[in-house]
Amino acid sequence: MAATSLPGTGLLKGLGVTIKHLFREPSTQMYPHERPDLAPRTRGVIALMDENCTVCMLCSRECPDWCIYIESHKETVPPAKEGGRARTRNVLDRFAIDFSLCMYCGICVEVCPFDALWWSPEFEYAEYSIDGLLHEMGRLREWMDTVPPPPQLDEGAELPAEVADAIGKVEQERELAAAKEAEAQQAAEAPAEGGGEKAAAGAAPKQAEIHVEAGQIDQETYDALIAEGKSERMARAKAKAAWVKKEKARLRAEQEAERGGAGGGDAAEQPAAAAGDAGDGDAADTGEAADAGAAPAKRRLSDVEVEGDGEIDQETYDALIAEGKSERIARSKAKAAWVKKKKQEQLDQEEGG
Ligand code: SF4
Ligand code: SF4
Repeated sequence: MAATSLPGTGLLKGLGVTIKHLFREPSTQMYPHERPDLAPRTRGVIALMDENCTVCMLCSRECPDWCIYIESHKETVPPAKEGGRARTRNVLDRFAIDFSLCMYCGICVEVCPFDALWWSPEFEYAEYSIDGLLHEMGRLREWMDTVPPPPQLDEGAELPAEVADAIGKVEQERELAAAKEAEAQQAAEAPAEGGGEKAAAGAAPKQAEIHVEAGQIDQETYDALIAEGKSERMARAKAKAAWVKKEKARLRAEQEAERGGAGGGDAAEQPAAAAGDAGDGDAADTGEAADAGAAPAKRRLSDVEVEGDGEIDQETYDALIAEGKSERIARSKAKAAWVKKKKQEQLDQEEGG
């Protein structure tokens, strides 16, 4: 026979639960004043590494919501060797995901055989209009900056040989740069005799060698990105990088002015170059912007065809690995850097010829 409970026991039990929770920390998070503590692999938004996409269409076909739109065209690539066969290659024209339809199942990320799709934990991209949730290729590419690096290896595990090699090389280069800097400093401190001043002016450190403690943000960049509709987290990260760049350029210009006061032309040119670096790194690196300004009719990098077979720019790869980027990201960026270099070489050759 079932035991009958005393009258009022249920009420007391209920009150007990209420009292227990009355003195506990509330579990409510006061978003947006408090940022939620998300797991690193949170499914926030899908990022696209377009250089990895081969337009195989697997993601689009597997997507249960049919919310991935891909457009491409075929290009004929000349044979790698003389007498070989010309090949065709798919070139991605459009890649878009409609996040108003996406159900965040992650099938597309899993099926992509070329690691072109990644999860980013970024989730603040709500829009007033549903059209804004259709993210085109450029926006999907920007999300790549917010993809966290892969989890650390087990404690004590050996690094992959390739990565260890790259880190070793970068450390060597850093030591060399430090030694050069020390030499330059010694030369600058030594009493100027004859051409001494000129030699010191020539040994000015490069922008990459100047150390700046990160932490502040460039308010102008931050405001511009927020006005463009970027998320606070992304705007803050980019504004931090912009501040470091500007600070380095400023320090370099100061050092140049100190060293090259007596040097004349050279010293006057270098701060200007430093300011250019701070403005737009990519364009300054390739020299594309300068070329375009000087001769608008010239062929541009995008007009040059370069055929690669998976080659990478080792320097870029090593630098990215040393920065802590994942091997996959480093490899794909190093591939792009190799292509850029080859194109630039080809352009230079054409101009020289
Ligand atoms: S997460 Fe799922 S629904 Fe969203 S795009 Fe990928 S496959 Fe489609
Ligand atoms: S599965 Fe990957 S490589 Fe294939 S089309 Fe989709 S993103 Fe591109």
